[in-house]
Amino acid sequence: MINDYGQTTVKDITDGLQKKRFSAVELCHAALSTVEQKNRNLNALITATGKLAVEQAEQIDKKISLGENPGFLAGIPVIIKDNICLSGYPTTCASKMLANFISPYNATCVEKLINAGAVIIGKANMDEFAMGSSNETSYLGPVKNPYGDEYVPGGSSGGSAAAVAAGMAPIALGSDTGGSVRQPAAFCGVYGLKPTYGAVSRYGLVAFASSMDQIGPMARKIDDLARLFSVISGHDENDSTSMEFDYSNIMSELDTDRKFVIGLPRVFFMKDLDSEIADIFEKAVAMLSQAGHRIVEIDLPHIDLAIATYYVIANAEASSNLARYDGVRYGLRVPDDDLIEIMCRTRSSGFGREVIRRIMLGTYVLSAGCCEVYYNRATQIRNLIKSDFADAFKEIDLILIPTTPTAAFKIGEKIDNPLEMYLSDIFTVPANLAGIPAISIPFGKVKDGRPAGIQFMARAFDEISLFRIGRCLEKMNGE
Ligand code: GLN
Repeated sequence: MINDYGQTTVKDITDGLQKKRFSAVELCHAALSTVEQKNRNLNALITATGKLAVEQAEQIDKKISLGENPGFLAGIPVIIKDNICLSGYPTTCASKMLANFISPYNATCVEKLINAGAVIIGKANMDEFAMGSSNETSYLGPVKNPYGDEYVPGGSSGGSAAAVAAGMAPIALGSDTGGSVRQPAAFCGVYGLKPTYGAVSRYGLVAFASSMDQIGPMARKIDDLARLFSVISGHDENDSTSMEFDYSNIMSELDTDRKFVIGLPRVFFMKDLDSEIADIFEKAVAMLSQAGHRIVEIDLPHIDLAIATYYVIANAEASSNLARYDGVRYGLRVPDDDLIEIMCRTRSSGFGREVIRRIMLGTYVLSAGCCEVYYNRATQIRNLIKSDFADAFKEIDLILIPTTPTAAFKIGEKIDNPLEMYLSDIFTVPANLAGIPAISIPFGKVKDGRPAGIQFMARAFDEISLFRIGRCLEKMNGE
């Protein structure tokens, strides 16, 4: 019935439902059987939400048969990362700490998806509490890259990226604190957007580093990415850092041809780049210039301090956010007669190595005597990085850098070397520190077929320019 489900776009599905080529329930079954087939090997999903999905699809079919508007994402199968709350289902954050936690409410973005008619088919595997770049820190085991079983899909939203690349769903949600949507998107050959800080409500997203966390869309096509973003964005009274911004022109102006001034911060990135990725990047620059965009070199003087700054701030915030998992309130409890023992044992047993490392580092950089030297200094450097971007954006519209220094690496290659793992985030963390939007666009492949990605950053709330440049590259690639 729906033979090409794995390749379908949101628009294909919307058209198919309208023209009654298939029903939402039939499509939902196609999605669930694709998940069943592929997940055994990929381990991309932690929970399949089949029962809920079929109920949602039935409601869509009913609305269509009654001639009611079924919503902008009617019948579209969606996968959400397992740190985003879905009422009545587990939200594990891929941690033993929350392995049995059932969410009592929906995250705002989930509520918005449901109101738009989307059909939630599963919750995606991830690095534990979104801490990692390879999906190997998951309590439920690593996710495999659809382009090769021995490779990581990236992280921490590796489950969402692998699921979209493997055709389980055309769109998915991830979360991005330092690159966790963009880096796995690049490793799996799909699009991923880290929205402006405040563009999407964080209500119902399990907190990692609250000043940088953002939920972001992932998709196989730019049009689908923009559709998903337009549904989840907007102010929410439950998240005081969320903002109302008028994104209503996103779909209508996606195809408008515009020539951009694109800044290249060359000195910064060239030294760390794998040679094949460098060649692919050069090709992208040449294509964009041929297409009439103006390329200029720019200076971001403090950018090479971004990794150190990010890992101080992110871990400091994480240590505070994760203090709530104390064996008393909710989640795992290792019983004991003594309260302090309950807390110690629960936290030692419930958190994995990487999470513990980050809590230790975070409490250290916040401790008396260290706070001035590490945390306060990092926040000062963060402000300098922000003003570097503000200065650059006076002259240019977009900044172009690679998404990652290499294509997907092998499972096991970096997991015992945290510093090397952290360094692989070099190109993604600056946008989170500055709060600006950034997109990873699939572009080219290395010799053995693993995908590569290029990344654009824009001024705060200028996501439309990111979608437009994505559409422009999509067209140039003949799609
Ligand atoms: N890889 C980065 C980290 O480990 C980013 C994680 C994220 O964006 N959630 O912190």
